[in-house]
Amino acid sequence: MKTFDKIENIRNVGEKTFEKLRIMGIDTLEDLITYFPRDYEDRTQINTISQLIDGENCTFKASIASFPINTKFKAKVITKVDVSDHTGVVEITWFNQPYIQKLLKLGVEYVFVGKVRRAFGKVQVDSPKYELANKPELMIAGRIVPKYPLTYGMSQHNLQKIIKNALEKVNGTLTDIFAIEIREKYNLAEYNYAIRNIHFPENDEAYNMAKKRLIFEELFVVQAALLYIKSKLENDIKGIKFIIPSDIDSLEKELPFELTNAQKRVIDEIKIDMYTEKIMNRLVQGDVGSGKTVIALMAMYICVKNNYQVAMMAPTEILAVQHYEFLNKYLEKFNIRTGLLVGSLSKKQKEDLYDKLKKGQIDVIIGTHAIIQENLQFNNLGLVITDEQHRFGVDQRLKLTGKGENPDIIVMTATPIPRTLGLILYGDLDISIIDELPKGRQKIDTYHVDSSYKERMYNFVEQQIGQGRQVYVVCPMVLENEEMSELESVVTYTENLNKTHLGKHKIEYIHGKMKAKEKNDIMTRFKNNEINILVSTTVIEVGISIDNATLMIIENAERFGLAQLHQLRGRVGRGLHKSYCILVTDAKGKIVRERMDVMKNTNDGFIIAEKDLELRGTGDFFGTKQHGLPEFKIANLYEHTDILKESQEAAREIIERDSCLTDVENENIRKKIEQLLEHIAL
Ligand code: ADP
Ligand code: MG
Repeated sequence: MKTFDKIENIRNVGEKTFEKLRIMGIDTLEDLITYFPRDYEDRTQINTISQLIDGENCTFKASIASFPINTKFKAKVITKVDVSDHTGVVEITWFNQPYIQKLLKLGVEYVFVGKVRRAFGKVQVDSPKYELANKPELMIAGRIVPKYPLTYGMSQHNLQKIIKNALEKVNGTLTDIFAIEIREKYNLAEYNYAIRNIHFPENDEAYNMAKKRLIFEELFVVQAALLYIKSKLENDIKGIKFIIPSDIDSLEKELPFELTNAQKRVIDEIKIDMYTEKIMNRLVQGDVGSGKTVIALMAMYICVKNNYQVAMMAPTEILAVQHYEFLNKYLEKFNIRTGLLVGSLSKKQKEDLYDKLKKGQIDVIIGTHAIIQENLQFNNLGLVITDEQHRFGVDQRLKLTGKGENPDIIVMTATPIPRTLGLILYGDLDISIIDELPKGRQKIDTYHVDSSYKERMYNFVEQQIGQGRQVYVVCPMVLENEEMSELESVVTYTENLNKTHLGKHKIEYIHGKMKAKEKNDIMTRFKNNEINILVSTTVIEVGISIDNATLMIIENAERFGLAQLHQLRGRVGRGLHKSYCILVTDAKGKIVRERMDVMKNTNDGFIIAEKDLELRGTGDFFGTKQHGLPEFKIANLYEHTDILKESQEAAREIIERDSCLTDVENENIRKKIEQLLEHIAL
């Protein structure tokens, strides 16, 4: 039996069910057996009637003691029957299932599962699930029963049956990707056993073994896949060998500041990568304001002096413009020709740029994603830099490589990633860390208040604007939503703000659903200090640098993950002016308080990232989606850090020993990885 076989031939899967499964994302037998329960109900204990407890969901065995009777009541059909064992009688009622009358046979024994009511000396149960007691293996009782996430009208019972049938069909035939030595070393259960016990655990221990094994495998496969790609790139494809120009120091001398030691170290790492023949695939990780753009500048210089072109991508137009302005100031002094490619250019301007790029008359092009999406040709692309990486997927990175003859790649991110997560999120990259801020950086004073402070907070806003400064307010939502009326939305918030004494100032809002042009327009006006207060969703999170903004207010702060709060806070404190962050939340929980305290007590992104992981903040900031990783079915990056470490070790060990996975014992791992790479553009 091949696990990717279609599932039509499983018992209980008729056409209708098949369709429902398909909508649930279950196409193959493999999908079905890896559709994991979200919870379990322990029905190992089968009770006698005298043991039944009032108000609890109970499992008991009893025989039909009276003929089932159907009566009509209003629009309903009610079916009643008495069942008994040697300890008592239970009165059972079903609603609108008249056919049950014919199914239940007098004197036959069944097991029932349902909520028990004891009143006036009677025991009653409404609408229990039931099955024949003399079956060789019971479905709903005498065992731990899985509860699946359900949608599209699929019933729990039905899905349980289908999965049980599927398991019977594949039992013992599933291949285990791990050789026995690996299983022994990491104490992993065998695959068939794991699959069986994750659905229908024999006992707690079996369940724990099964769960660990499946989490391990899931995390292992992704990490091994990334390492596999990496070693393929390194071994199979040769990159450009750049010469480090002897006058690179003169560029450094142009800078108005001294590089930090961390910046120097990272630049050295990049120089080595560029000098060697291997393709550079490097992630530069550095907190907001740590000075990543200068790193890009140095690499650009090396590349252009070797007569190759550079492409730099930013996630938004505003950021592209910002980079262009900063970089061009220096590049220009060395006669390096820099172009800016953004959506707002006219067709003619764009065509002119394309032409120059193709002819090699532009050395450095800075722009948005458009650079990879458009049909843009380079004369000889040697280096690609992407900024604020969490918006770029692995697949986009690979696409870029194809634009030149294996250009070097630098990916820059301000998201500090806890070390354990580094490999799973960026396993295909080498990592450089700028773990030091330039001297004299100010600490952003951070406060945690509830909404009763609004009055005082707005007075503070007034004061900042009075001093010529600007203010951000971040809200979690775009529009008012009835279901979540306690959450602030940018639109309503702006309206309300206009009704206060702050209304005399220029207030605008911005959110991700607006057109790019509108957003740009507002950001430009904010940058030019034509707007005093900008109410925003998290669209302003990434990289924007507006030195005059000194106050960041975050409403419903409990809704954001720590790392995200840190990113948002990083939008202020970029200039010389003293800056502040106010976290507004009425949530009172312990975790919320702890998280707010972390924000108050530190400005260090790495500490915050570690804490975020520890406190399992809301949201999914390190989550898989932004990084282009597949979604995990059972693993959780926050919870399963120990297994993550182990699986990391295993993936490293296996790829190190057999980088192309050609050894016989790794064959199934390779197949699994290829399957993953095929289905998910990593
Ligand atoms: P980020 O890492 O957030 O992208 P930037 O590259 O935008 O940071 O740098 C933030 C600010 O710090 C810029 O104004 C930049 O010119 C300045 N800067 C960068 N490196 C240094 C340094 N070594 N000393 C002082 N200022 C620096
Ligand atoms: Mg930056």
